[in-house]
Amino acid sequence: MVRVRYAPSPTGTLHIGGARTALFNYLYARHEAGTFVLRIEDTDQAREVEGSADAMMEGLRSLGLQWDEGPDVGGPYGPYRQSLRQTRYQEALDELRARDLVYPCFCTPDELQTIRKAQQHAGRPPRYPGTCRHLSAGDIKTREGRPFVLRFRLPEQGATVVDDLIRGPVRFEHAVLDDFVVRKSDGMPVYNFAVVVDDHEMAITHVIRGEEHLSNTPKQILLFQALGFDLPAFAHVPMILAPDRSKLSKRHGATSVAEYRALGILPEALVNYLTLLGWSPPDQEEFFPLTHAAEGFTLERIQHTAAVYDQKKLEWMNARYLRELPPADVAVRVRPFLADLGIDPDRPPERPVVDLDGAVELVRERSRTLVDMADQMAFLYRPVTSYDPAGVKKHFGPGTGEHLATLAEALERVADFSPDTLNALYQTIADDLGIGRAVLIHPTRLALTGRTVGPGLFELMAALGRTASVARLRRAASDAEALSAAASAP
Ligand code: GLU
Repeated sequence: MVRVRYAPSPTGTLHIGGARTALFNYLYARHEAGTFVLRIEDTDQAREVEGSADAMMEGLRSLGLQWDEGPDVGGPYGPYRQSLRQTRYQEALDELRARDLVYPCFCTPDELQTIRKAQQHAGRPPRYPGTCRHLSAGDIKTREGRPFVLRFRLPEQGATVVDDLIRGPVRFEHAVLDDFVVRKSDGMPVYNFAVVVDDHEMAITHVIRGEEHLSNTPKQILLFQALGFDLPAFAHVPMILAPDRSKLSKRHGATSVAEYRALGILPEALVNYLTLLGWSPPDQEEFFPLTHAAEGFTLERIQHTAAVYDQKKLEWMNARYLRELPPADVAVRVRPFLADLGIDPDRPPERPVVDLDGAVELVRERSRTLVDMADQMAFLYRPVTSYDPAGVKKHFGPGTGEHLATLAEALERVADFSPDTLNALYQTIADDLGIGRAVLIHPTRLALTGRTVGPGLFELMAALGRTASVARLRRAASDAEALSAAASAP
């Protein structure tokens, strides 16, 4: 029975690297009909950020990555917060100490710093030289009362091989490792120790995590062996890099799940995008919901090389979800973004004839994000107060006022306010005036929306409705002369 875990440290927000690790664990669990565990790794209390664990859980849930066992939902292997498992860590440490597999080290931070500096100076990598490794019971007694850490007694010879499911065997010579700390002087276990006890106690079968942890894995394997625990399988997922192949960071734009939400990226699209960030689907189909991804998800298809983050592709994916989700579903999600623009579609200053679902259908072909969508549909709900100056300059001329007035009159009388009828009507009027349709179409769009681009003109007119369309055309007709004079003034 497969049991996997996502084990964040509550030191910030859920960012895309963490979300992808959680996602791959989730997909693997679902694929194998296994269990997905959430564990909060909060032993490093100095780095803990208040509210972070809750925010991370909220972020995971918003992506649909619900865990089967965890701090809030419980489960048979709890507690799921490291800070609540101290007794068990202590027991495991006592056992290692009794077997002399760990030993106390009394070196002070200053002493260690001096050693590190000397090593650096000599061009050697930093490595604990084993100062306290051979202290006798008597030596230890004389140091009683002084703060100490516990270090793991590393086997001097040989190597530890991580049999990684993604990258194959990776060998770590013990000569390059050192007697690493397993318990700090404040009594707290360090990550490398706590994680081993937890993974064992929680019967984790597969450790799927970011590549940045690969160098920790030999230490953890040594501890698994020292404690007589069976090894889980390990899979280290390649990093996510920025387009310039540097480490992905703030300066490359949004990186946290909450930020993507604020930008109007749908969780479905983000999850779909993250699924492809380092994993290739068997059928090359790029667009699939979580359930479909879980069906085909195997660790063999995780790439061996770093994945490169591409904001454009994420937006492309998002646009696709905006087009394909039911309009009523998108409507619910666009509401907060309309609210950000001061628009309540139930009580707008101007009411279009379409309902919100219709508004979604009108603009979704051209929307990349919900922010974009709200912005594009805003014209339906409020009067036009300004016109794009470049548009005015280009499309408003001497005859525009008259044309718009003629159109307003015709629209008032036309029997049926449907896109097809409006289209035919514009053709007739253009023919009557002996001008091209474009001469009518561009100023009409500006009059109705204030902009030069947007949805198909006749569709948007039908959505706006006769009353608002006529009123906006009249207003632009009377302003046209002044606007065009102002626009062409030097
Ligand atoms: N707590 C670790 C982190 O947030 C994860 C450790 C692990 O997955 O083993 O990076």
